[in-house]
Amino acid sequence: MYTCASCTLLACCKPGTPDRPKNCPMHNAELNAEIFDKYGDPENRTLSQQSAAVEGAGYGRWPRMREIMELARRMGYTRLGMAFCAGLRKEAKIIEGILRDNGFEVVSIICKTGGHSKETVGIAEEDKLSPGKFEAMCNPIAQAELLNEQQTHFNFTVGLCVGHDSLFYKYSNALVTTLIAKDRVAAHNPAGPIYCAGSYFRNVFKPETRTSR
Ligand code: SF4
Repeated sequence: MYTCASCTLLACCKPGTPDRPKNCPMHNAELNAEIFDKYGDPENRTLSQQSAAVEGAGYGRWPRMREIMELARRMGYTRLGMAFCAGLRKEAKIIEGILRDNGFEVVSIICKTGGHSKETVGIAEEDKLSPGKFEAMCNPIAQAELLNEQQTHFNFTVGLCVGHDSLFYKYSNALVTTLIAKDRVAAHNPAGPIYCAGSYFRNVFKPETRTSR
């Protein structure tokens, strides 16, 4: 099993480092060569180059929103798809405006599109936010398929729920990036609770509290 997160040698980042952990994934030269060949694919190669170029050009200065625009320009993506959460519709409107002001076409689809009630996909009453009342289900497959139908060049997500975002990534034909990762208790900054995992958020991450509401 690979455990790069616990590695103290970081030989991959420091050329010439003689030692690597026994379970370093770089020991498997054959597999690594096979993987590296995938950068020969023109789209993968260009995206890899341009992502690095954006990183270099705006390092520490450009927020993610600007980075998405810069990458889209460099890749020739002019028609962008935004899959957003109903809870972030105000933010979605602002984002749409920024993109349009910058010359992009924007197709946006809300998570509740379709208007299906949660019980139609077998979601239990007790798992709803307000049991006994109508709640529209999140419909990330429709968000992806509608953007596919609109032939967007590049898609991004704004606040989709954990797991719903996975379905969106699964069904989107265009490549996807995440603009806003939803975190309802951390102002959509999931890194915040990680930074405070040893202090203010320590009880939240204890195994015995993981399933409590
Ligand atoms: S790739 Fe190897 S050297 Fe790099 S972090 Fe993982 S285990 Fe450490």
